[in-house]
Amino acid sequence: MPHGDLKHTAIHEAGHFVTTYRLFPDLYPGHVSIIRDDEEGSLGHHLSGESPEWMFAKRDGVVQPERVEDWIVMLYAGVAAQLQFEPATGATGGSNDDELAAGYMSKWLGVADQSRAEVEARLRQLAAAVVKKHWTEIEAVAEELLHHPRLDGEEGQMVADIAAGQEGCTREGLERFRAMKAARCDEGKQLDAHSA
Ligand SMILES: [Zn+2]
Repeated sequence: MPHGDLKHTAIHEAGHFVTTYRLFPDLYPGHVSIIRDDEEGSLGHHLSGESPEWMFAKRDGVVQPERVEDWIVMLYAGVAAQLQFEPATGATGGSNDDELAAGYMSKWLGVADQSRAEVEARLRQLAAAVVKKHWTEIEAVAEELLHHPRLDGEEGQMVADIAAGQEGCTREGLERFRAMKAARCDEGKQLDAHSA
């Protein structure tokens, strides 16, 4: 995707993020960002951590095929969100996602190369459906990213919850959370200054 197109990047990353949140509420939320990461060669990251594979693929040490499928759905959700946003563009920018998805299909699901297209088509459809279902949340997270290019997982989840109309989740609550976080960091800096 063209590098200047931040809105598309935001929609793409928000697609990954909200899908992760809704399909894997048990996972550490990481963060969501539209800041260019040259080292990784990608425009944004939705999850932190080195290799989350064991977290999503297994439960009690046993591979859970439906969780692997959901993870692949999450990978397809970036491009699916772009297509939902602007069907005419023919979204690009998911080549890394596609590569990962193909790898997980063979590694965790044992999908042979010749049947991959079929599985891929089914999971892409699922991704489109999940994106559609949570579209308001994805749009809200994307909009937030345009003002705060890097959101903590908790912040991102709050934005999604507010957009989903979850009871007790408000913009004021989000701002309070941010203020609290900022205050905590200031305290840390003061402690550092003391010990220096
Ligand atoms: Zn992606």
